[in-house]
Amino acid sequence: MNILLVNVPSRRGKGGFTLPLGLLYVGGIVERCGHRARIFDPYLCDADLGEDIVAALRRTIEDFNPRVVGFGGISTSYGRAKELSASIRRDHPEMVMIAGGALSSVADLLLTKTDVDVVFHGETETSLPAFLDSLEKGTGFAGLTGISYRSADGVVGTPPVEQIGDLDTIPFPAYHLVELDRYFTDVNDWLASYEVNLENLPGKEDILRRIEGKRRYIPIVSSRGCTHRCLFCYRHMKGHRQNTVGYTMAHMKFLREHYGVEGFQFCDELFNAKRSWVMDFCDGVERENPGVFYLIGGARVDRVDEEMLLRLKGTGCIEINYGQESGSDTILKEYRKGTTGRQNRDVTILTTKKVGLACPVQIVIGSPGETNDTIEETIGLLKAVEAYQYSINYLIALPGTPVWDVVEDRGLVPDVEKYLDEVADVGGAPLINLTTVPDDVWRGWTSRIRREMSIEYVRRKGLKVHDFVNMILIPLIPRRLKNIIKRLRGLYGRG
Ligand code: SF4
Repeated sequence: MNILLVNVPSRRGKGGFTLPLGLLYVGGIVERCGHRARIFDPYLCDADLGEDIVAALRRTIEDFNPRVVGFGGISTSYGRAKELSASIRRDHPEMVMIAGGALSSVADLLLTKTDVDVVFHGETETSLPAFLDSLEKGTGFAGLTGISYRSADGVVGTPPVEQIGDLDTIPFPAYHLVELDRYFTDVNDWLASYEVNLENLPGKEDILRRIEGKRRYIPIVSSRGCTHRCLFCYRHMKGHRQNTVGYTMAHMKFLREHYGVEGFQFCDELFNAKRSWVMDFCDGVERENPGVFYLIGGARVDRVDEEMLLRLKGTGCIEINYGQESGSDTILKEYRKGTTGRQNRDVTILTTKKVGLACPVQIVIGSPGETNDTIEETIGLLKAVEAYQYSINYLIALPGTPVWDVVEDRGLVPDVEKYLDEVADVGGAPLINLTTVPDDVWRGWTSRIRREMSIEYVRRKGLKVHDFVNMILIPLIPRRLKNIIKRLRGLYGRG
């Protein structure tokens, strides 16, 4: 059978695409079962994410003639999944359409309001082969595990799927299904994202030395799941499992040898669950993948120490992201993060100042208990760590996350379909005020934090025109305009 896998966009606008790793893993399962897989990634379409995607998908289906179309995405991909599935149903009434990954958090909507036939819950390594087998034999889905499907009697859910114990039994993602070159990140773009702020990082020279002469890096994962379940986090797998260091080294080596990859962005939800694993990982990199550089996407501040950070840095780590979320213990408790403001402060300072790793501070604001006082505590954290790079995100309540219970209890989202579309439209902008402060105060928190941090920069550096321009004015210029300025400076020999 031919199985077409579609990376369903989560936003209306263009941009923000990344390697569809989940679908590449699914592609590997499909091929291991003896079927043919193809990946359709609308993010790569030249057209805006509009009608042209439907036309491009139609052409792909005509060319590939799939028996099954599978949709992967997140909950805000819902509107797009609905649109695409309807268009496929019109052209191909017999097509079997399935969905999985984080998109399964809106399984009920998918099975009642769209043309999707089957939703996979949790990981698909065992449920997908069984499903494809039953489809081929025409034996029906009733005996399967880990799925929900539409039947004449309504939506039917089957027992949960058993998770794979040993992640090393899973084949590497089927990278050959995509033009991998198109998904590489250029390390110069990473550097540019720091703008002038990398100047403030004590370990800047080491980082520049480490990436010198290297260019391409790519997302990779070494684990599944997390040990926690934060208020805003969608988790469709239980617990935390990690590949062995041997498997991870072989995976990195494979990407280096076959695709010329020079750097890696570990997109694990939790990279540093076990200290011994991290230290073995560093030994492995030194032994089997010397000279690479890597970024860590998901780490916890309560599982690091100086020795570990130095070892990571010594083996090529250039950036670590902790997800500090807040400077307030009250809010961290509400988030169920299991960390404290003090840990956030101490570990961030240790990482940036003493060890010299890039460490963007990631803040989430707007949980039900957030107040002006807790925002002040977060500003206090940002100032204390001298945050030179930070992001502020409003808590976005989505189906499947623990905070969704609050939304349902208070009846804040009468029309979930409409709401998902709105979230997809506005990206991370604030939509639902879960706090008890007035809307205008709640909406103003981001600019308040940024304003205070700008003043702090100028105060720390002393009010000089040069600092004012670099630290306050330049970050306010839209990126597109900045690129034009850079290009013009290059043309006139000043770039
Ligand atoms: S620690 Fe991070 S990955 Fe784990 S549940 Fe919390 S937000 Fe999610």
